Amino acid sequence: MSRAYNFNAGPAVLPLEVLETARREMTDFNGTGMSIMEHSHRGKAYDAVHAEAIANLGQLLGVTDDYQVLFLQGGASLQFSMVPMNLLGAGQAADYVNTGAWAGKAIKEAKKVGPVNILADTSKDIPTTMPDFAALPYTPGAAYVHVTSNETIAGTQIQQYPRTEAPLVADMSSDILSRVFDLRQFGLIYAGAQKNLGPSGVTLVVIRKDLAERAAATLPTMLQYRTHMADNSLYNTPPTFGIYILMLVSRWLLAKGGAAGMEQINRAKADKLYAAIDQSGGFYRGTAVKEFRSIMNITWRLPSEDLEAQFIKEATALKMSGLKGHRSVGGIRASIYNACPAEAIDALIAFMGDFQARNG
Ligand SMILES: *Cc1c(COP(=O)(O)O)cnc(C)c1O
Repeated sequence: MSRAYNFNAGPAVLPLEVLETARREMTDFNGTGMSIMEHSHRGKAYDAVHAEAIANLGQLLGVTDDYQVLFLQGGASLQFSMVPMNLLGAGQAADYVNTGAWAGKAIKEAKKVGPVNILADTSKDIPTTMPDFAALPYTPGAAYVHVTSNETIAGTQIQQYPRTEAPLVADMSSDILSRVFDLRQFGLIYAGAQKNLGPSGVTLVVIRKDLAERAAATLPTMLQYRTHMADNSLYNTPPTFGIYILMLVSRWLLAKGGAAGMEQINRAKADKLYAAIDQSGGFYRGTAVKEFRSIMNITWRLPSEDLEAQFIKEATALKMSGLKGHRSVGGIRASIYNACPAEAIDALIAFMGDFQARNG
């Protein structure tokens, strides 16, 4: 067997143990003689998977009775629309913080629904950075405050979530369960599964139940959080196979010590890679302001675009994939999500040293 060192930004690396379990169970799930994909979403076999996924995520995220875990479709991108459609009432405005490409997309959709206040805009800053969230001019009476926890393209991350009077809504697509946080600080969090939780096609939403009651009854049924809450994410056929993989990942995360265990592992991985960048004497230059560096998406530049292209080409030949920076910014990006093993980072650092020795 030969697994690549996978630094893809998303869809991204999954734990090998999860893939092996899925392979083992692929044609005969739990002695039922069929794959979990072939089971009814209303049947006993799938029901147990669905329930375990919700229970495990509840444990991992500290979900209490006043919140609910939902599995939706449409990606984080649909949440850019569903959040304002459900939470932004007539005569209200929502607060947004523009920290980069993903926040910008969320803002674009919210503006189609209602008035939006931009509290800060760091989206064009180079080096990439984030504002001081404790000092933002939050609007009294805002419907909610929307933040992007980790800017996947810029390689920046909110270091400390703000305490806001209005419900705090966070796009956690690229850093959910990579570190400890207090869910009670939030009204709603969402994440496309394909970075830290599982395959594409499932979107995790955790919502404080009372917020779902804000939506107008005229909103299309599938777009209302309350529909999915009332039917435990089984109003229509959910992405059963994706939820099954997510359930396996949730088991894996629990075995790793949950968010606290992952945070320790993730910080160690990120520190090592940033140290390699910082100790290169300027050959490698981190693109994010140090205090806002992401522990999930590590971004850096080389002295020239030619060298960057050469770096990516040679890395690819060594089975290190996904290192090309996002097409909008260039450079190098290593996405080192929960499931990215320490060996992959060690291999990358060794290659970086070798590449510099030959080209520095
Ligand atoms: C990848 C990403 C998205 C988009 O997710 P989709 O599931 O493709 O819609 C949104 N926000 C952030 C922060 C992301 O990293």
